[in-house]
Amino acid sequence: MKLILFGPPGAGKGTQAEKVSSHYNIPHLSTGNIFRYNIKNETELGKKVKSILDAGELVPDETVVDLVVDELQDKKYDNGYILDGFPRTIPQAEALDKYLSSKGTAIDLFLNLEVPEQELIDRILSRADGRSDDTPEKIKTRLAVYHKQTAPVLNYYKEQDKVQKIDGVGSINEIFERIKKALEKVK
Ligand code: AMP
Repeated sequence: MKLILFGPPGAGKGTQAEKVSSHYNIPHLSTGNIFRYNIKNETELGKKVKSILDAGELVPDETVVDLVVDELQDKKYDNGYILDGFPRTIPQAEALDKYLSSKGTAIDLFLNLEVPEQELIDRILSRADGRSDDTPEKIKTRLAVYHKQTAPVLNYYKEQDKVQKIDGVGSINEIFERIKKALEKVK
């Protein structure tokens, strides 16, 4: 089962991806988590991307694609995975498709977590994990980046008929139940 969990910042992608990962026993690949880990550990990659994450902008496509393609070589991804925060631009989606088709495979389903804008802002501001990009100013930038660069990715997968929308309002468990229902069709 190869899944993409998509949605604007604050939609709950990380939380739901964790739940999907443990329930279906597939790895969760979050590019944001990888970047934050590298920043914390002051690696070369971390130094390169820190100011970009701090500003709420996007890391260049080539850096992200190289990272993901490299990561997907690991055997632990052989039986499927859930991608969270990637792809975030059309070129990233195209690169992912190209990589997967070179392996004779493809994404099974694209889950679009839908949450109204004001709720996104409220959720991010009440998030307790101390992210440096969770301030009102940065949220504005991240939402603008999402609308401009990331939202078109939804149409890209719509054209492939892979999109399943998920109502992202409710309790964590309610939302997870909706995701499980959507995934019944996959396996
Ligand atoms: P996230 O945890 O998914 O919200 O990602 C946090 C930040 O990491 C984003 O605001 C971007 O700066 C960067 N990032 C994560 N994934 C990507 C991606 N696929 N493309 C570009 N930048 C990314």
